[in-house]
Amino acid sequence: MKQPNASPVRIETTDGIALIVIDNPPVNATSQAVRAGLASAIRDASANAGIRAIVIACDGRTFVAGGDVREFGKPPLEPHLPDVCTAIETSPKPVVAAIHGTALGGGLELALSCHARIMAGDAKIGLPEVKLGLIPGSGGTQRLPRLAGMMFGLDIVSSGRQVTANEALAHNIVDRIAMADLRAEAVALAGSLVGSPPQRTSALNVAPYDVTEFNTAVANVVKKARGQISPLKAAEAVTLAATTPFAEALKREREIFIELMQGAQSRALRHVFFSEREVLRTPRLEGVIARPLNTIGVIGGGTMGAGIAVALADSGLPVTVVEMSAQAVEAARGRIVAIYDRQLKSGRISAAQREARLGAIALTTDWQALATCDLIVEAVFEDMSVKSTIFRRLAAIAKPNAVLATNTSYLDVNEIAEASGRAGDVIGLHFFAPANIMRLVEIVECAGSSPDAVAAGVALGKRLGKIAIVCGVCDGFVGNRILTAYRQQVEFAVEDGALPHEIDAALESFGFPMGPFAVSDLSGLDIAWARRKRLAPTRDPQARYASTIADRLCEMGRFGQKTGAGWYRYENGKRIVDPLVNALVKEISTKRGITRKPIDAASICARVRAAIVNEGAKILAEGIVPRALDIDMAMIHGYGYPAWRGGPMFEADEIELVKVLADVKAMAATSGPGWEAAPLLVERASLGQGFGGSV
Ligand code: NAD
Repeated sequence: MKQPNASPVRIETTDGIALIVIDNPPVNATSQAVRAGLASAIRDASANAGIRAIVIACDGRTFVAGGDVREFGKPPLEPHLPDVCTAIETSPKPVVAAIHGTALGGGLELALSCHARIMAGDAKIGLPEVKLGLIPGSGGTQRLPRLAGMMFGLDIVSSGRQVTANEALAHNIVDRIAMADLRAEAVALAGSLVGSPPQRTSALNVAPYDVTEFNTAVANVVKKARGQISPLKAAEAVTLAATTPFAEALKREREIFIELMQGAQSRALRHVFFSEREVLRTPRLEGVIARPLNTIGVIGGGTMGAGIAVALADSGLPVTVVEMSAQAVEAARGRIVAIYDRQLKSGRISAAQREARLGAIALTTDWQALATCDLIVEAVFEDMSVKSTIFRRLAAIAKPNAVLATNTSYLDVNEIAEASGRAGDVIGLHFFAPANIMRLVEIVECAGSSPDAVAAGVALGKRLGKIAIVCGVCDGFVGNRILTAYRQQVEFAVEDGALPHEIDAALESFGFPMGPFAVSDLSGLDIAWARRKRLAPTRDPQARYASTIADRLCEMGRFGQKTGAGWYRYENGKRIVDPLVNALVKEISTKRGITRKPIDAASICARVRAAIVNEGAKILAEGIVPRALDIDMAMIHGYGYPAWRGGPMFEADEIELVKVLADVKAMAATSGPGWEAAPLLVERASLGQGFGGSV
C-alpha cells in the first residue's frame, strides 16, 4: 500500500538502469507533486554514478495524459513543467520514455524532452491544449516540429488531434513501437544508448519545408478556427520553431501559454470541459439503478431511425428496426448501408467493422420482434395521432419494464405517455440529425416517468458517447425551444432592416458554423411551414408574427437547397444572394409599416444572444433543466454555439447580466408581447448575480 503522503514518483533501479515510475491515478496528470517528484528523481538518477541510463514510465492505465486541469487558471506552482522538461533533456544520461495508453499535453512534452521514445502499439499521443483554449507551454510547439517536421507539427498542435503509434513512428515522433513488453524493451533501448551522446530534441534543426505550403496550411487553420484564438496562437508558436532560436522560442511559447491561460476563451473552454463531464451527473437520479438496456428496437427507419440504429450498433448494441412495409424496410436498409459505406470510404471504419455493425441491425415489418427489447425508440412521422396509436400498440407488445421512448421534436411527451397507458415506462429520447454523429441527446422526463427509466436513458447516452441532458416536458424541450426564439428574432431583424445574408455573415463571424438562413435552406423550409400552418389556429393574435417572408418563399415553392432556392439561390451547389429575396424582404417591411434601418453585425449578434439567454432564463425558472450548464451544453453540442464562448449562459455571466438585460430590453422593444425580459434574468441582474453557469 502506498502511504497517503508518499511521492507519486518512485525510482526502481536494476542493472544500472533507473526506472522512474509515475503513479498518480487516474491519468498520471502532471500535478505539482508529480513535477516535484520527477525533478528530484531525474536529479538523483543523473547524479548517481551507479546509474547508466533512465526510463520514464507510468503505472495504471496510461502514460501522463495531461496537466491537472484543476490547477489551470490558478497561480502556477514550482517546479514548472518546462523546467522539468529541460532537466530531463539536459541529463547527461540517456533518458527514454515508455508510453502506454495516451501521452497527451504535458505528458507528450515530457516524452519529447527524453532522448528516445518507445510506444505500445495501441497507445496514442497528442497535444490537445488548443481544445482548452491554450497551446502547449512546455516546449511541445518547439520540440514536435523538430522531430516531425513543420507541416505535421502544425497539424498536431493546431488541431489537438490524437496520433496512433504507427503515425507517430512514421513521423519520427517515436523511435520504436514495442513488440511485447514495453518496459523491458524501453530498458533495453536505454541500455543501448549508453556511451553515445544523448540526442537532445532542442538541438535539432527542423527539416527543410515548403514555406508556401506551410503558409497555406496556416491560412486554413485561421479559417477553421472561427474566432477561436488558440489555433492561431498554436500556428504562431510552431512557426517560431523554424525562425527563432530554441531558447527564445521557448520563452515566447510560455508567454503565449500564460496569456491564453488568463484569457476569457480558455476560461470558457474549461467551463465546457468540466460541464461535459458534469452534465451526465443528474443529482436527482443519484442512487437510482438504471434499467439495463441490452437489446434495442427502433420503430421507423427514416432519417432519424436509421441514424439512431447506426449510433446504437456502433456502441455494440443489437438493434431491430421495425418499418411499415417490405418496401419501407428496403428503403431503411438502404439508408443504413449508405451511412456505413460513407464511413468505410472515409476510412473511419474497416470493411470488417462495416460487416459486423450491419450484422447487428435487423430490419423487419414484424412488431413481435419488439417483444423482447429492453428499450424501444419510436422515430416515425411527427404526428400526434400516429404516435399515440403506436404507443398504444407498443404497450401491449413490449415486455414489462421495457423503456418506451419517443424521438419527437415538439409533440407533448406527456400526452404520448398517457396514450400508452404505461406512463412510468415512457421517456423522450430526442436525438439530433444525423443521430450517429451529433453529440447531443435530450432525455425527456415526463410527469410520470419512473426514475429508473430516465436513468436508463442517461446510461444509454453515456454508452453512446453523447452529451445527454435530462430535461422536463415543454414545447421543443431545451434546444428547439431556444432555437424557435432565436429564429423568430432573426426573422424580425430581416423585417426591421437586415438582409438574410447579412445576418448569416454576422452569426458566422460570431462563431456559428453556418448562419440560420443557410441552415434553413439546408434542412428545408417546408417542415417548419407545415408546422406553422398546423399551429396557426392556436397562435396569439397579439404576438408579432415572424414568418411572413418564409411563408411567401414556401408559397413560391422555394424550400431551400433541395428545390434550388430558398433564402438563397443555388447554382452548382453554390449559395448565391438572390435579389428577388431582397426585394421581397423590402416589400414585406413596407407592407407591415416598418421603416427599415440598417442593423450592424454586433447588434445582430447581441439580439440573438439576448433571445437565447432570455429563453434560457425561462427554462431555468420553470425547472425544465436544473443548471445553466445544461443549456450551454445543449446549445454547443446541438446548435453550433461556439464552444470558445462557453455557451450562452456562461457567456451572459461573463458579460454581466445587467448588460445582457439591456440587450433583452432593446430586443423586446421591437418584438411586442411575449418578449419581455424573463423575471429570473431581471432578478439575477438586479442582485448583481449570474446564472452560476461555471462548474
Ligand atoms: P422520416 O419521415 O424520415 O422517417 C419516418 C419513418 O417512419 C419512415 O421511414 C416511415 O416509413 C416510418 N413509419 C411511419 N409510420 C410507421 C409505423 N406505423 N410503423 C413503422 N414505421 C413507420 O422522419 P424523421 O425525420 O426520421 O423523423 C422521425 C421523428 O424524429 C419525428 O418525430 C421527428 O420530429 C423527429 N426528429 C427529426 C429530426 C430531423 O432532423 N429529421 C431531428 C430530431 C427529431
